[in-house]
Amino acid sequence: MQYDLIIIGGGAAGTAAGVYASRHGLKFKLVCESFGGEVAQSGEVGNYPGIKKTNGIELTKLFREHLEFNQVDIEEGVKIKKIENIKDGLKLVGAKVFNTKIALVATGAHPRKLNIPGETELDHKGITYCTTCDGPLFRQKDVAIIGGGNTALEAGMMMAGIAKKVIMINLNQEFNGETVLVDNLKKKANVEILYQTQTKEILGEEQVSGISMKNLVTSQSRIIEVKGVMVHIGSLPNSDLAPVKKNKFGEIIIDAVGRTSNPRIFAAGDVTNHPYKQIAIASGHGISALLGIVEFLNRHKY
Ligand SMILES: Cc1cc2nc3c(=O)[nH]c(=O)nc-3n(C[C@H](O)[C@H](O)[C@H](O)COP(=O)(O)OP(=O)(O)OC[C@H]3O[C@@H](n4cnc5c(N)ncnc54)[C@H](O)[C@@H]3O)c2cc1C
Repeated sequence: MQYDLIIIGGGAAGTAAGVYASRHGLKFKLVCESFGGEVAQSGEVGNYPGIKKTNGIELTKLFREHLEFNQVDIEEGVKIKKIENIKDGLKLVGAKVFNTKIALVATGAHPRKLNIPGETELDHKGITYCTTCDGPLFRQKDVAIIGGGNTALEAGMMMAGIAKKVIMINLNQEFNGETVLVDNLKKKANVEILYQTQTKEILGEEQVSGISMKNLVTSQSRIIEVKGVMVHIGSLPNSDLAPVKKNKFGEIIIDAVGRTSNPRIFAAGDVTNHPYKQIAIASGHGISALLGIVEFLNRHKY
């Protein structure tokens, strides 16, 4: 059997697209490795319009209920490994195989890890990869922010207004983000910047208590006490499955309605080259892509 559409991904982008696909009467299915995506891993969520305060578990439940209300066929626990072009459609290959006219890739991204001792053990115990989300948990505490790009700099600006002290740890001699951000950060009285410094270990038993680091110029090691560690060294899109054009970061390049270089493959959310990675943005892009898909299906005969 051939579907009109297979949505790959059960996060914010896939869920929003699923609700719209159902209301447009498409013959479709939502396939995902694990439902909820990054939302399911989030702590407090206070920036999804219309919901003053919730958490990742509750929002994931609401996402699922909304799909079920629209009788969306959800298939969980299936990882799609590759998408192949076939005559008049696509073949999605994973633990199962699906034939479809169109695929929407909404597979998100995963944060790049430091891969140092303590990181796995203390994940969610003082380590965060999303300062926008978890920053307020560290009010009036000392925190370290690891990274040297715009995301790290913006995290630094945000935490300067929340934390007691912010220690920026940059592997390089300079930041590689925007000058205006660097200049603004340097003006903050509670921000200390360490250049050419490598984080070696995150310390703590039940919670983060500090980090051990090494100055790459002097080779001197040092331990600092912090309650929070924000890691912003980039993210890696889950885009390997899609045979489409990507940017240098591996993100799928899309236009305003989620079209990719392959007319039968659309993409939405964190897997794409849109610069901002947030729940409401992923939802909006899922909807936008779905409407693009409906237009494509209406205009093309198979
Ligand atoms: C800890 C944390 C907290 C956050 N807090 C907030 C917040 O408070 N507010 C906010 O706006 N944003 C927050 N964000 C960012 C936000 O969660 C993401 O921008 C958004 O959820 C991305 O949605 P998505 O649908 O694009 O991808 P994801 O949520 O990553 O979903 C991807 C989906 O694809 C599936 N998948 C991946 N690969 C495959 C495959 N090969 N085959 C099948 N399925 C696959 C996954 O299982 C998942 O279902 C947070 C992020 C993190 C990590």
